[in-house]
This record gives sequence, C-alpha cells and structure tokens, in this order.
Amino acid sequence: MKPGIPAVSLYGVPFSKLNFKETVDLLVQTVEAKMPAQVITANPIMVMKALEDPAYMAMMQRAEVIVPDGAGVVWATGYIGKPVAEKVAGIELMHELFRIGEERGWRVYLLGTAPDTIRIAVEKLRERYPKLILAGYRDGYFKADQDQEVLSEIQQTAPDLLFVGRGADTQEPWIDRYKEELGVPLVMGVGGSLDILAGKLKRAPKWMIKLRLEWFYRLAKEPTRYKRMLVLPKFALKVMRDREKLQ
Ligand code: UDP
Repeated sequence: MKPGIPAVSLYGVPFSKLNFKETVDLLVQTVEAKMPAQVITANPIMVMKALEDPAYMAMMQRAEVIVPDGAGVVWATGYIGKPVAEKVAGIELMHELFRIGEERGWRVYLLGTAPDTIRIAVEKLRERYPKLILAGYRDGYFKADQDQEVLSEIQQTAPDLLFVGRGADTQEPWIDRYKEELGVPLVMGVGGSLDILAGKLKRAPKWMIKLRLEWFYRLAKEPTRYKRMLVLPKFALKVMRDREKLQ
C-alpha cells in the first residue's frame, strides 16, 4: 500500500480505510501522477489465498492500493474493531473512472474476457461514455508466451487506465509482474466486470447489494463458484477464532 493511505491489516493484507469518494480522489491523483500503480479490489477469497500462498501474499503487499470489495472484509474489519469505511466495489470504481476519464481526456484500455464479449463491452462503453478515448482492447484468453506481444500492443497505445478482466488467480499476479514494464499509471483487476459491462452477466439487484448479499446472488447465478465460496465460512470462522490476535 502506498504510504499515507489509512489502512487496516487483515492477516498482513493491508486494506484501505478510505470511503468510495475518497478512493476515487486518490485514484484520480494516482492517474495524474503517472507512476505505475496497481489497484486490487480484494475479497476474503483473496485473503485466504494469500494466507496459503506466500508469493500471492507478497504480490498483494506490493500493490499500491487495496480496497475492500467484499461484505466479508467489511464484516471482519468491523468485528476486530478496526472497521474500513465501506465496501468499495470494483465495478463502481471502474464506472466512476470512465466518467472522470471522459472529462479529463484519459485513454482507456480494456483487457479481458472472451473475444465476442470484449467487443460488446467496447460497444457499450462507447454508448455510455461517448467522449471517452478508447486506447485499445483485447480479449483475455492468451498464454504466457504471448505476454510480450500483449504488452507491446498496450504500450503502443499509451493508456492512462488499464482494466484487466481475467480470473483473480491470473489477473493480479499478471499485473504485478508487468506493471513497471507497462508503465500505465493505473492498472486495476476487474474480474467479471467486463462481462457485466457487456451485459453478459448481471449484477445483483440493489436490495441484495444493500443487504450485503451480493456473494449469494453470484453463487446462485454461477453455482460452479460454490467450491471457491466454501472459503467464505472458513474465513469467518478463522476471524472469529483469531479475534484477539487480530485486534
Ligand atoms: N478470463 C479471461 N482469461 C482467462 C480466464 C478468464 O479473460 O484466461 C475472464 C473470463 O472470461 C471472465 C473473467 O475473466 O470474464 C473472470 O473469470 P472467472 O469468473 O473465471 O474468475 P473470477 O473473477 O471468479 O476469479
């Protein structure tokens, strides 16, 4: 985490305590500063992964900004008496950055999801943010031996913002590995948000988001996620057990 950002540590993963609006202000400054920065919107699944995998933990700790994107993180930080301000959803940050980017003339690159879906996402982006400059886009299905080709494609278009929508296991380590080489001021992993932008996936209804049940909606829509989501109760039990240690 960049120095100066108020944060709470959860098992060594530093989460920003800024609210949505403050986070947006920070990210605007970050883009304007033109130093490569990685934003991770993290959830309990990622915290648990970091606890199992030291390389993933080190990667999280190198990120310039980690925001709490998960009801579980909001709950856990409150439970140990060091609450974050609120859930800061990656998809909402992405849209706010599109909106501000339109005003400021930022160049945006979208990288991720399947070839037909990314094309639809780009169409929707053009409809919703007609003045936004689209530096380029590419699907997220490429192998490690194509990384250099993808990097040079992105570098040539000189974006200010790069949104990467590949699975969490892939996108965050990929961004960490290449952020310096890419030199893009702000790179953010957005997972399935490009699918939502394209209209292929739906976000939970507002009432469910308010009740912090977005995770349940995702589980119901994509039952194949259940294995991964078994980590959620494990995380909750672990936090309850470790409450004193974490305070
Ligand atoms: N994805 C991709 N390249 C890959 C794997 C996944 O672009 O090699 C995309 C996938 O199409 C989807 C997004 O990454 O749009 C998130 O995938 P998934 O739901 O599997 O990952 P999660 O966000 O649950 O980690």
